Amino acid sequence: MKVLKFGGTSVGSAQRIKDVAKLINERGRNLIVLSAMSGTTNSLVEIGDYLYKKNIDGAKETINILEAKYIKTIDELYSTKEYKEKATEAIKACFNYIRSFSKDIFTMFEEREILAQGELMSTALLNFYLQETGVNSVLLPALDFMRTDKNAEADTQYIREKLTALMQKHPEADLFLTQGYICRNAYGEIDNLQRGGSDLTASIIGAVLDAEEIEIWTDIDGMHNNDPRFVEGTKPVKELHFEEAAELAYFGAKILHPTCVLPAKLNNIPVRLLNTMQPEAPGTLIHNTSESRRIKAVAAKDNITAIKIKSGRMLLAYGFLRKVFEIFETYKTSIDMIATSEVGVSVTIDDERNLQSIVDDLKKFGTVTVDRDMVIICVVGDLEWQNRGFEAKALDALRDIPVRMISYGGSNYNISFLVRKEDKVAALNSLSQHLFND
Ligand code: ASP
Ligand code: MG
Repeated sequence: MKVLKFGGTSVGSAQRIKDVAKLINERGRNLIVLSAMSGTTNSLVEIGDYLYKKNIDGAKETINILEAKYIKTIDELYSTKEYKEKATEAIKACFNYIRSFSKDIFTMFEEREILAQGELMSTALLNFYLQETGVNSVLLPALDFMRTDKNAEADTQYIREKLTALMQKHPEADLFLTQGYICRNAYGEIDNLQRGGSDLTASIIGAVLDAEEIEIWTDIDGMHNNDPRFVEGTKPVKELHFEEAAELAYFGAKILHPTCVLPAKLNNIPVRLLNTMQPEAPGTLIHNTSESRRIKAVAAKDNITAIKIKSGRMLLAYGFLRKVFEIFETYKTSIDMIATSEVGVSVTIDDERNLQSIVDDLKKFGTVTVDRDMVIICVVGDLEWQNRGFEAKALDALRDIPVRMISYGGSNYNISFLVRKEDKVAALNSLSQHLFND
């Protein structure tokens, strides 16, 4: 059995829901995890925001606009009166529930109940559609088995027991459907796995069921080996190690968040990124083995600031780095790249909000230089140190570009370069030419 997760855009309209129905139907007896229709969770957040602010009219207006969208979807989706009515009744019930919160006090508990409606509605719509078209789909309510513990982590034992029991009740099912993102917490209250949490739902379910594979269906054809906005002829990466995927996540590469795939990684369940618009394309497979001796992808991150602290006091001293790092901790600013020498250290940050205070404090320890408008270029692949030649290849690609920092050896999967903003496109292109043109 596989777990197939579809994001909001994959179920974003009546036509998309029909396409998803066809796709999952052809793939057999799997468990399908759905997000809310695209835009819905944002609207629900907005409704909650109006209710917090006691702007009841604002809430009502947003509710009406959202409801109209669903009524239109229902009209386009079903062909029989029976299913139009069933779906309308279910959707109306959700909206009336959302409306009921405008009367009383509004806290985060009520907000979470509102946020849960998005996934409840998308799964209801798809489930009715499958049934209308003769598929024996079974909707498993996530609120009946998805639970987090007191540390807000998935209660895997509970989830496994409840979910398998629920599935066993339906031997006749052609396929199973459930809501992503929503759950109950340790106190039994309705809660969620944070924004974008449907990927985590899929990963948790894949892990507890020991699924053959977790498929994450979106509208892009997997993760590309370079940024298609700046480099021509990029190709989807066929396979990546979970660690390589984690390195790329920071770069906003269209990849899954590392914490979302952690349950899959730990339980050794492969995750495949697939494209609903091109279902036969191989996509990107993320797993715990790595095709060795290959560089897989290049990615860039803009708006990086480099800070250099130079000090004679650093030579042979201990505790110097700790003092430097403490300053960043004080200002809750995370450091991304680091390069050190005997008399200095350079770090990068991507959050400049406290730059001035950080620099002021750092001046107590040495001479400080700041370079702004920099870009981190990250090369990901099998960069295990004993393999020869890969670092050289990447460096060679950048021979004509001024490189401010290099970071290598932090993991077996990455080498990062810091360059000026104006050199980014040239760097990305040259790396593609040198690394992927064979
Ligand atoms: N619907 C939720 C969100 O928009 C969860 C998800 O789509 O993964 O954040
Ligand atoms: Mg080496």
